Amino acid sequence: MTKYIFVTGGVTSSLGKGIIAASLAKLLQSRGYKVTIQKFDPYINIDPGTLNPYEHGECYVTEDGAETDLDLGHYERFLNVATSQANNITTGRIYQNVINKEREGAYLGKTVQVIPHITDEIKRNIRLLGESNEYDIVITELGGTVGDIESLPYIEAVRQFRWEVGNNNSLVIHLTLIPFLAAAGELKTKPTQHSVKMLLEYGIQPDILVCRTEHQLSMDIRRKIAQFCNVHINAVIESIDASTIYDVPLMMLKEQLDKTVLTKLKLSHKSEPDLENWKNFLGHLKNPTSEVKIGLVGKYVELPDAYKSINEAFIHAGAKNECKVKVVCIHSEAINSENVKEKLQGLDGILVAPGFGSRGIDGKITAITHARENNVPFFGICLGMQCAVIEIARNVLGLEGANSTEMDENSPAPVISMMEEQKTVINKGGTMRLGSYPCELKKGSKAAAAYGKTSIKERHRHRYEFNNDYLKAFEQAGVTASGVNPESGLVEIIELKNHPYFLATQFHPELKSTVANPHPLFVNFVAASLANARKK
Ligand code: GLN
Repeated sequence: MTKYIFVTGGVTSSLGKGIIAASLAKLLQSRGYKVTIQKFDPYINIDPGTLNPYEHGECYVTEDGAETDLDLGHYERFLNVATSQANNITTGRIYQNVINKEREGAYLGKTVQVIPHITDEIKRNIRLLGESNEYDIVITELGGTVGDIESLPYIEAVRQFRWEVGNNNSLVIHLTLIPFLAAAGELKTKPTQHSVKMLLEYGIQPDILVCRTEHQLSMDIRRKIAQFCNVHINAVIESIDASTIYDVPLMMLKEQLDKTVLTKLKLSHKSEPDLENWKNFLGHLKNPTSEVKIGLVGKYVELPDAYKSINEAFIHAGAKNECKVKVVCIHSEAINSENVKEKLQGLDGILVAPGFGSRGIDGKITAITHARENNVPFFGICLGMQCAVIEIARNVLGLEGANSTEMDENSPAPVISMMEEQKTVINKGGTMRLGSYPCELKKGSKAAAAYGKTSIKERHRHRYEFNNDYLKAFEQAGVTASGVNPESGLVEIIELKNHPYFLATQFHPELKSTVANPHPLFVNFVAASLANARKK
């Protein structure tokens, strides 16, 4: 039977439930268990696809084209296992399903209510992954903080679910904060006691408390937490601030979180965890032999979570190259042709980020001109590729007014234009070109060299495309369309022949970079930037 673990959060948000869930999953996986993680978000949007990155950070896209919470990115990066739509459910989706069923007549004669209909729908979604028989353990992370009005149906669903499957088949981990009061010179347990009391009011006794803290928990503090929150002392787990999220699995191993979990679920913990590769990765990450400075040009740079997967992909690629990648964020709106030299000075490579709308476009294009003319390694992603196409059209092909129809519907040279099937789309949610599509690489290209093969699959999230009416003109100007969709002929990668490294992709490679498999395009871009740094 599949075992279920629930992760709730108390006291404050932003304690890192996603990292704790992913770290526990990593440890269980390293002991040979098949594990997956799902995230329930208590907001009313059907998915985060329509949210501005300032609201909720990056929108992560799965193989099957679901627009999801960025925590799913952590799950994939840690576990190296793909997630899907079933791994991210929101209140909006739960209600939509219930309301659709009501219209179909599934509840004929009945009053449709939060209890039992909404809680039943939540429980059905908790079970979905377990019933696939693919996993020994399903970890369900509940977004939000215990006590939030909008979390209540989820907590109640967990209470009912535990009653149904029994305590040996499920457990609740409560992630909480133990604040340090500098004036008193003490760690304080009261907020945690209150948070657990609130859970108890809802009928849930947590089995394990993971305590976020800036200072080590003494035995006395652990005992106090255990006694007043009604858990075994071994179930009080210290989670002290880490220098990198990739340390957390080993910290949880030291605290024996995995052993405590397996014991409570009556599962064997005899086999030792195999974390050889993980430790090797950490070794490289922490002992770099060189450093590169890469500029990340985007319009959401004030919020690091907006480019989460790109930043993590650089960490993986840096470790692979045994070098530290220092990502320098540069606001695209702050770049213009007068200051570009000074703004991009000292960078060994330049990445132009994905995005939507015209804000900051001119700065992105100016940064690309600088990279192209000065032989600085360049990597463009999605809108970053579209900007590279516009830049080359204007400045190499001499096409005045060249643009994407996203920015200028009446451009005389629409080198990026809306896909035919997008033109009739009215709804904004879930209607972009989303998820995994095949791509064939040109033999001898930089892309094929990076991947070491010519058939790949990558994930997409966009409405606009390279306009193939201009392909010939681009090829004559030294651009190679080195990746093309074999079915539609859409251009997915461009590169420049006479440049040390100038490559841009219509897809999002950052979404597929994991600790076990750093993305080859990031690895090679970092290597090219390193070569550039050495030349200097
Ligand atoms: N706005 C562009 C499009 O929709 C690029 C999207 C992106 O960068 N993800 O095609």
